[in-house]
Amino acid sequence: MTDQNNTPVVIVGAGPAGIGAAAVLVAAGLRPILLDEGRAPGGQGYRKSDPALGLNLAYAQEPEYKAIHALFERLRDKIDYRPETLAWSVDAGSVFTAFRGSVASEGIPFGRLILATGATDKVAPVPGWTLPGVYSLGGAQVLLKDQGCAIGQDVVFYGSSPLLYLAAWQYLEAGALKVTVLDTTPFSAKMKASAAIASVPKLLRQGLGLIARLRMRGITMRHGVTDMAIHGDGRVEGISYSWKGRRETRACDGVAIGHGLRSEIQLAELAGCGLAYNALFDQWQPVVDADGRGGSGVYLAGDGTRIGGAVAAELAGRIAASACLADLGHAVDAAEVAELKRRRDAHWRAQDGLARAFAWPRKGFAELPDATVLCRCENVTAGQVRGIAKTMTGIPDINRVKALSRCGMGRCQSRMCGLAAIEVAAAARGEAPANLTHYRAQPPIKPVAIPTSSQEVA
Ligand SMILES: Cc1cc2nc3c(=O)[nH]c(=O)nc-3n(C[C@H](O)[C@H](O)[C@H](O)COP(=O)(O)OP(=O)(O)OC[C@H]3O[C@@H](n4cnc5c(N)ncnc54)[C@H](O)[C@@H]3O)c2cc1C
Repeated sequence: MTDQNNTPVVIVGAGPAGIGAAAVLVAAGLRPILLDEGRAPGGQGYRKSDPALGLNLAYAQEPEYKAIHALFERLRDKIDYRPETLAWSVDAGSVFTAFRGSVASEGIPFGRLILATGATDKVAPVPGWTLPGVYSLGGAQVLLKDQGCAIGQDVVFYGSSPLLYLAAWQYLEAGALKVTVLDTTPFSAKMKASAAIASVPKLLRQGLGLIARLRMRGITMRHGVTDMAIHGDGRVEGISYSWKGRRETRACDGVAIGHGLRSEIQLAELAGCGLAYNALFDQWQPVVDADGRGGSGVYLAGDGTRIGGAVAAELAGRIAASACLADLGHAVDAAEVAELKRRRDAHWRAQDGLARAFAWPRKGFAELPDATVLCRCENVTAGQVRGIAKTMTGIPDINRVKALSRCGMGRCQSRMCGLAAIEVAAAARGEAPANLTHYRAQPPIKPVAIPTSSQEVA
């Protein structure tokens, strides 16, 4: 069954938000199309390792992980699930896709579109971050969860994110020989934010338990680290940083950097949703109503709209699908939706607390040495971005900095460097980052193989 125009409901993203949305649509008798560029469902946090590797990672035993995968298995034959399918554009009521990198000949027309595209790492560059052996925190986790590989034997987890501690623990459990956690936010910020985090008491308990377990294993954890630099001749060999007024150095062979998450917003923008700057999470995010409506026939849910964690994502997916059903004329239980919102909002409050406890190191961008590479795809330095930003006349716009410097113009399309480039440019001009607007989305949002005229499309 599809909507009244006989065009399907398409969901992009098979993480908790997309799976939650699919569950609600299936319960109402619909058969949604669920697209995901990944090989298996579960999204980023509940990533499933390749069964051929026979990995038995501890995180896959957690009840939340098992519940989302069990839910997906119950839905599998009631939905049109298309893995390894990237949605690279949305235009005129169709989603344009590529299967294993090759573009499909036609778009998928949709009656309603639910975007549950999740988030990726927020990274604040430091000198030496382009050395081999340095990964984004998410990249280091993906390698472990997907392939059972570690990025090194002696790994430093650096940045400002609750996931630093979680990833360090996941590495320890998987057998990494040594891990160190260097957090740029002072411990006092965590204490101040604890009341908000306690909006979900389990989250606070889990966080404190994790830190206690790391401490019991004798893991070095530093809070309030500044002036981080990564050193090595051809690859990572060590780091240096300032802490409590002194300079420390240590050897290591892997560094994972993460400063929280940034919503994947490109498809939302291409689908016509408005964007607004979220000062708490230091990024642009889609504008939605309380039910996740982002525009005509477009709904959004999960970390792609607001960083809220996996539980909030699933709840938001269910809420967005309920709004979609209501708009299609189905009866929806208002009390049930109100309860979903109550639970989602508690998780959002807790995540707002986490955003304060693990702050984006804004001050560091003004002090970043000119020679530090910001855009690793196009090899553009902080100094080049500063030079252009300072002389920009008229209304400041990061897209002009991009055009003149190529910063954010490469393969990752500003996913990795965009937020940092905005911060560096804003600091150079003495402006608020929001004044520089956001990198505009352009299709294809990720590289795809475009067939030449003599080749057939898939
Ligand atoms: C790398 C990483 C590791 C994490 N690890 C943990 C963890 O260990 N524990 C924890 O509690 N939380 C973790 N988180 C946070 C947690 O994953 C999220 O809060 C939660 O998964 C959000 O659910 P979601 O459904 O909104 O998005 P996600 O789970 O991110 O799912 C989004 C899905 O959309 C797909 N997608 C995105 N864009 C497209 C597109 N254009 N075309 C097709 N498919 C697309 C992605 O492949 C992905 O499967 C992690 C986050 C990241 C980024």
